[in-house]
Amino acid sequence: MGKIAIEEHFNLPEFNGEHPQYVNAELMADINRRLLDLSTLRLSEMDAAGIDFSLLSLTAPGVQAVTDTPRAITLARQANDTLAEVVAANPTRYGGFATLPLQDPKEAAAEFERCVRRLGFHGAMVNGFTDNGDAGWYYDHERFLPFWERVAELDVPVYLHPRNPLPANTGIYDGHPVLMGAVWMFTVETATHALRLMTSGLFDRFPNLTIILGHLGETLPFTMWRISHRAEAMGELIKFEKPLSHYLHHNFYLTTSGNFHTQTLNATLAEMGVDRVLYSSDYPYESMREASGWFDHAAISDSDRTRMGHLNARRLFPNLPARIGKDA
Ligand code: MN
Repeated sequence: MGKIAIEEHFNLPEFNGEHPQYVNAELMADINRRLLDLSTLRLSEMDAAGIDFSLLSLTAPGVQAVTDTPRAITLARQANDTLAEVVAANPTRYGGFATLPLQDPKEAAAEFERCVRRLGFHGAMVNGFTDNGDAGWYYDHERFLPFWERVAELDVPVYLHPRNPLPANTGIYDGHPVLMGAVWMFTVETATHALRLMTSGLFDRFPNLTIILGHLGETLPFTMWRISHRAEAMGELIKFEKPLSHYLHHNFYLTTSGNFHTQTLNATLAEMGVDRVLYSSDYPYESMREASGWFDHAAISDSDRTRMGHLNARRLFPNLPARIGKDA
């Protein structure tokens, strides 16, 4: 049985001008070509890497960077309709994550419901905070409570994917542009966003919410004990009911996207348990072959490899097709 990968990105021509260039121009040109391909090249890469099924998501920042709310709503619907067609044309190889216009939380809730109930999507991929022309909206804000209420009803995961912080929040990186993007900025931005969700009490209000983090949890498996331990001393600042580590262990799943290192995986498994870790590559920012070349031969048990490779995804996304892969 081949693997299921869940942080696998595509792009649409109408978004092509809007996503940042993370790496050198030649590599970025190749990434852009691969983002726009949803047929032969991607499927042959999946075959070569032993990936039977990819859950596809619009690449970051997607609609999260759109400051015009009606336009964000239109673009999200358009992206979701196109993805539904791509999935319908290849239902044994592709599934979909919704793009959500969180500029308007009620519209985002309605669009998420449409994507899950009518388009058959398996969750959503949200690319960090949503632009609002000012400081950005992070999803612990009370304006998002109607959205989270709908997510809790739909009972499907939301993948919290990185983006770069707003320029106003990048002072610490002045003179060090090499640290932008996936090198380090993404990690700090996304881990902080996840901690904002935990400390806001969101998971006390909606205990069944499931958030997925890529990159083996954006450092949180390694930092959580200290965070949780020191947070207990914060007295009246505490707005949450349980130790912070409880939320990481009960409301989060992590993937191997872009973090292909066995020592790090072993520490993640020790902290999270194997049932909460899933295989992913982060194509095309990473190579499916490199991801799988590492994962398929890493010094872990075959039982753990099978669970992370596809069994955990089957449990987390119960509506995946019964038969997947090119021979289905
Ligand atoms: Mn990614």
